[in-house]
Amino acid sequence: LTSWNFKQDKTVIDLGDGVKVGGNELTVMAGPCSVENEEQMLETARVVKEAGAKILRGGAFKPRTSPYSFQGLGEEGLKLLAKAREETGLKVITELMDIEHIDVVCKYTDIIQIGARNMQNYALLKEIGKLDKPVMLKRGMAATIKEWLLAAEYVMNEGNHQVILCERGVRTFGEETRNTMDLSSIPLVQQLSHLPVIADPSHGTGRWELVIPVARAAAAVGADGIMVEVHPHPENALSDGPQSLKPDNFRLLMDELSAITNSL
Ligand code: PEP
Ligand code: MN
Repeated sequence: LTSWNFKQDKTVIDLGDGVKVGGNELTVMAGPCSVENEEQMLETARVVKEAGAKILRGGAFKPRTSPYSFQGLGEEGLKLLAKAREETGLKVITELMDIEHIDVVCKYTDIIQIGARNMQNYALLKEIGKLDKPVMLKRGMAATIKEWLLAAEYVMNEGNHQVILCERGVRTFGEETRNTMDLSSIPLVQQLSHLPVIADPSHGTGRWELVIPVARAAAAVGADGIMVEVHPHPENALSDGPQSLKPDNFRLLMDELSAITNSL
């Protein structure tokens, strides 16, 4: 179902109000790793909207490596995302970790994010396959291209064909970056599949200084979109501060991305 043999026109995820993923534009999703409080969320939403992002990200259910780390605000966080959407008109994407939270997450979000850790959670994939809601499926941190595409097949096989793929880097022997960003997977998957493929240089590198150059590279290889973490005060972030862009650098990134897409 993911392959060009099945469908000859590129899949475009239409979120309404002119916001699309997989169309001719590079769609930018931006926002904090975690929803932390109303002020942080609204401030970030205003900044990213102003700079030209179309979709607001923010985790309310967080898959943290340590059980002692901040786990997210749950439904309270989802409400803050919805409030930011109301104020700015941005669409919203947030992670769903568990079957039991499907209803509450769907109530607030425009796109369901399935994180790297759940890419092969087949029970979850089958359940979201039954929904009428766009899904963004992140590549597992040790997943091959084939495993990633087969995970998308699990969703589509249940009837939901509104799938976006997101490259977020894979584990290698390197220690200087959080993951190794696999930029070649973007054109490769686009050659195999009609689904839109976006890039997450924040998790792909783990370092804010690398986010702008790697995002530029992702745009240059033809990514359908970019997901990037932005925080008004990264030094105080409850998760992923070291890889979050400050507002000024996010504005700079948006300028550079338009220069690249305009010249392609
Ligand atoms: C995230 O987007 O904040 C996240 C947890 O990403 P990943 O699943 O790619 O690690
Ligand atoms: Mn994060």
